[in-house]
Amino acid sequence: MNSFQQITINNSCSFEGVTLHSGEYSKITLHPSPANTGIKFKRIDSKLPKGQNIIPANFKNIRSSQLCTTIENDYNLSVSTIEHLMAALHSYGIDNLLIDIDSSEMPILDGSSIEFTNAFSKIGLKELKAKKRYLKILKNVEVKRNNAYVRIKPSDELSINYTIDYPNTIVGKQNIFLENINAATFSNSLAECRTFTFESELDNLRSNGIIKGGSLDNALVFGNEKTLNQEGLRTINEPAKHKALDAVGDLFLAGNCVMAHIEASCAGHSLMHAALHEIFSDPSNWKIITLSEKTDYTILSGELSVSTANL
Ligand SMILES: [Zn+2]
Repeated sequence: MNSFQQITINNSCSFEGVTLHSGEYSKITLHPSPANTGIKFKRIDSKLPKGQNIIPANFKNIRSSQLCTTIENDYNLSVSTIEHLMAALHSYGIDNLLIDIDSSEMPILDGSSIEFTNAFSKIGLKELKAKKRYLKILKNVEVKRNNAYVRIKPSDELSINYTIDYPNTIVGKQNIFLENINAATFSNSLAECRTFTFESELDNLRSNGIIKGGSLDNALVFGNEKTLNQEGLRTINEPAKHKALDAVGDLFLAGNCVMAHIEASCAGHSLMHAALHEIFSDPSNWKIITLSEKTDYTILSGELSVSTANL
């Protein structure tokens, strides 16, 4: 079933577990949402009046941007580490969703997007009676910081070319180039790729109290010669692919699915957020479009696994 319509999920679904940075326990429940409402987080633990506990997933609400992506509303209510869910939503084309959360941080789950994509494939997606809106990039946009850069170029689909370089480590230089990012390509290439760090960084991260919930169950940790995770890598170039996953998630803070080619090197959340602000700093950089003829974008049906679905 092809669609040019906006998408939400068929049924509600929940995820829970430890949070990476604060080390607390949190639970989220994703609810289907009407057309033109976008992706919104709702802090159900907040005592603020109705409406003030809503945090729209939009680049205007981005706050801190070093280790993870945090958004905050006008009432100082925030939610952090949203990028792995946002990546799954972006690639599955889910435009509208209300996410109840009982804490200020998302559960890290296994450090990837795989639990989200597995759930979406199982419960299925639903078309809504409104045209899907894409953010189409019209001009090249570039942001740089030292040797890191993000270049965003016009394209009729979302594609990404991401390079990382960690000299003198076993990660080294890696690249991932993924065209036509959608539910199938994301599930096959990026969804299972975990967040990562180095054994040599752990003391510093721990002493700064920023990975209180971190463990080998939710992060890939590289020692000098191999991973501390006994099972090793899930796929070749898992670190580069995870960075691409993060970028796909951060880009969805544009507020609509994005049509652009992304070229990034040694970038992180902070530079990707800067790229979003750069896009919107000039109205001639972008336009919102709807599709009026058949494309290869396809909706997943409930109960079909990704590998067998006709995507
Ligand atoms: Zn990540």
